[in-house]
Amino acid sequence: MTTDTLSDLPYSRSLLWFRRDLRVFDQAALHYALTQSRAVFCVFIFDSDILQHLPEQDRRIEFLHASLIELHEELVKLGGALIVRHARAADAIPALARELEVDAVFINHDYEPQAIARDAAIASALQQHDIALHSYKDQVVFEKDEVLSLAGKPFSVFTPYKNAWLRQLQFDSSDVHVRAYPVESLADRLAVSPIAHTMPTLAELGFAPSNFAQLTIPIGMHGGQQLVDNFMERIDKYKQTRDFPAIKGPSYLSVHLRFGTVSIRHLARRACEAARVAADASGANTWLAELVWRDFYFMILQHHPHVVRGAFKPDYDAIQWETGPAADALFEAWCTGRTGYPLVDAAMAQINQTGYMHNRLRMVTACFLIKDLGIDWRRGEAYFAEKLIDFDLSANNGGWQWASSSGCDAQPYFRIFNPITQSEKFDTDGRFIRRYLPQLAQLGNKQLHAPWLLTKMELDHAGVELGVNYPLPVVAHDVARKQTLARYAVVKKVAVTEAEPDAD
Ligand code: FAD
Repeated sequence: MTTDTLSDLPYSRSLLWFRRDLRVFDQAALHYALTQSRAVFCVFIFDSDILQHLPEQDRRIEFLHASLIELHEELVKLGGALIVRHARAADAIPALARELEVDAVFINHDYEPQAIARDAAIASALQQHDIALHSYKDQVVFEKDEVLSLAGKPFSVFTPYKNAWLRQLQFDSSDVHVRAYPVESLADRLAVSPIAHTMPTLAELGFAPSNFAQLTIPIGMHGGQQLVDNFMERIDKYKQTRDFPAIKGPSYLSVHLRFGTVSIRHLARRACEAARVAADASGANTWLAELVWRDFYFMILQHHPHVVRGAFKPDYDAIQWETGPAADALFEAWCTGRTGYPLVDAAMAQINQTGYMHNRLRMVTACFLIKDLGIDWRRGEAYFAEKLIDFDLSANNGGWQWASSSGCDAQPYFRIFNPITQSEKFDTDGRFIRRYLPQLAQLGNKQLHAPWLLTKMELDHAGVELGVNYPLPVVAHDVARKQTLARYAVVKKVAVTEAEPDAD
């Protein structure tokens, strides 16, 4: 790089603020910071406004912590370094920008309402000191108004959105929406600040270790790449395998998508390439559609931020949920995996023990809480938000609103998953249930799904004592089903018209 060229750049010094984009490849804000500045400093803030609401043991913080150590090492290899602070980001970013005397701060868009408000406050604090804030799309392929119906309106039904999304993608690496943002070729502009890199320990951040280390979840960019490589060998079978929790069917990339240790553009390109070369493209196309769901829910959150507080379809807020001590006891049984329905309990054991839950089981457990126990979906949403290592406000909210039938393009209210048939269909040989409920392991494949229907002799033979080493069912599904249909009567009229797709 010649000095002449460098002197043409608009900024002398810039600050790249890493948030949900913890990588040094194909990173939009980092790319733009490097193309516009002579020197780029990098920072990550453990935002106390966020951290103060988290439980003392939180696997996400451990994933983040380990991934940041890797990020710093990668930046050092490229000639830079990572400044790490534990503070209120809203205060720390303007303060650091002034301390480092930068001309601009670069970030990628964050679509969550609180983050939007924080970024707006930071933009105005920076502006008072003539420091620019530049923000870029990085987390999604298409955002807010980039995929609209022919009438120019945002979609609220998934299939026409997906069709329009797919039409807009050129399906090759030259497509501007999935083209990589180069970083390495510009890396000589990364700078080491006078502020030393010090990584706070978990304890200094106020957290205690969980079982995260034993879970051996691949962390950081390298971990993400390892999972991508592994999944690309299996992507052709995704459609057939993805619904069975005992099988390694899905990609397990959600935590990496959450923290941006993988690039969504890279994943979309890989899925398109896989579809192009496969004899049967259905696996790759089905997986690509999951990435479209992800964009869809980000778009919904952007256009309808009220979903954070209540139903997407406000009429559904009129539903009366069970409350009081009996409902609290049922909620507790659900949280701790003691409902007496083995698939539900095994799924809750999975989330509690690992911070992950298979997609099919997220649907089953969410429907069970709402439609078998009659409990407000927001309580389940909050529980998932606390436990999921891949917790993402938009996808989690979308999933819960889907299950409660209150969302855009949701499951109709009268469609109520039967937890026994779901179990027989998706864990037929009980492999998943046995993994998480060893006390039921000796039951036969057909017996596992509803142990309360067995005779005492059958239970004794398998060492199962209902009410002692495994609970009796906390509700009868058939009774609960009728109660739910009555509960949803207040929205009947809305529900009948809801299936109409948007004009495409
Ligand atoms: P794969 O099947 O390999 O899918 C690839 C990626 O596509 C996922 O990593 C995810 O980013 C995206 N994706 C897949 N399904 C969906 C979906 N239905 N909605 C939006 N994006 C999707 N996903 C989260 O990332 N965070 C959450 O907090 C979350 N909460 C959920 C709550 C409920 C009640 C439900 C029904 C679903 C939720 N999902 C959530 C969606 C989905 O269950 C997970 O993305 C998926 O199980 C993650 O595993 P994977 O990476 O192996 O998925």
